[in-house]
Amino acid sequence: LFAGQTEFLKGVVAMSGLPPADRAEVCFAGRSNVGKSSLINALTGRRGLARASNTPGRTQEVNFFTAGDIYLVDLPGYGFANAPVKVVQTWQRLMKDYLSGRSTLRRAFLLIDARHGAKAVDEEIMALLDRSAVTFQAVMTKIDKPRGDDLRRALDVTRAALARHPAAFPEIVLTSSETGQGIDTLRGLIATLE
Ligand code: GDP
Repeated sequence: LFAGQTEFLKGVVAMSGLPPADRAEVCFAGRSNVGKSSLINALTGRRGLARASNTPGRTQEVNFFTAGDIYLVDLPGYGFANAPVKVVQTWQRLMKDYLSGRSTLRRAFLLIDARHGAKAVDEEIMALLDRSAVTFQAVMTKIDKPRGDDLRRALDVTRAALARHPAAFPEIVLTSSETGQGIDTLRGLIATLE
């Protein structure tokens, strides 16, 4: 789909820096280290396009990629253990402004680690998506990782969380950037939103 035609456009730290809302866009949100950069790279077929920025303070940029006729938007990761209050507040402000103010935002993909399932901090962003009236879909990452009963448990916890949020789609997309599982499915979903 968008392989070979995806480009990094810009990283923005404030609403004033957003590119013109002239095409459909989808955004990706998730806890830091959930596998968001790996997923965006797998989706676009471009290794190294999206970079993990695993230090609090370096994580506040909203990164825009052009992919065919759509923007892919990489939201800053959240859930750092010892993030300074100011960093968290800046993140919350930016997320709130972006999610509630972007008319062309078609859908959010909320990434959740297949080993752990949805956590309290994920539910906070689900609540923010509800309030912003942005429909969202849960995407399990690292589906190649869980062993034994862990995946079933993670899915149960995640389904229960989704059921509490009116803006959520009930279906969970299972992906692995490592094996490629679910990547085509997700690409297909995004293509229908263009
Ligand atoms: P981000 O902070 O959310 O952008 O996370 P990254 O994409 O940097 O991934 C965090 C870590 O998880 C890295 O060590 C990745 O190699 C690893 N990772 C990401 N996706 C997968 C996956 O699908 N399977 C496995 N086994 N590891 C993954």
